[in-house]
Amino acid sequence: MKAENNKVVAVNYTLHAQKGNEPEKFIEQTSSENPFVFLFGGQQVIPDFEKNLEGKTAGDSFDFTINAENAYGMPEADYIVKLDKTIFVRDGEFDHENIKVGNDVPMYDKEGNELIGKVVEIGLEHVTMDFNHPLAGYNLHFTGTIKSVREATPEELSHGHAHGLTGNEEHLH
Ligand SMILES: [Zn+2]
Repeated sequence: MKAENNKVVAVNYTLHAQKGNEPEKFIEQTSSENPFVFLFGGQQVIPDFEKNLEGKTAGDSFDFTINAENAYGMPEADYIVKLDKTIFVRDGEFDHENIKVGNDVPMYDKEGNELIGKVVEIGLEHVTMDFNHPLAGYNLHFTGTIKSVREATPEELSHGHAHGLTGNEEHLH
């Protein structure tokens, strides 16, 4: 069976990312017990990820790169913001423990959505945080194999996502 719309595809992959002239760096790898499972055409993944797997069947291997523009986009200056240091005061003291340069800190927008900000700089009055996706600006290099392709269940199609390798996996909504 071929990977195409309305099929549930399980893949094992290794992801490396590369930016500018920097060497590739390792990002993540699935395990054979824990493959990445998704509903093809369900808008769960980067469109170019599907495009590169379309038509492949179980056992096929792949090796492709998605340019940053077509992956998580380029970093935007607007997403780097200066926040008042008082936001990070806990019990009268600046939160030195969590707010360190390089740390990823969960923050909330006005609607209560969680956003991860990376601490870029700590000044006298401000903390500069970068809310760009950590992989913004990176070309993504995927290598791996197709583990399985099956028909999506009616429930998966109505939910718009895969329910695990077998389609029976319990999950929370
Ligand atoms: Zn569901």
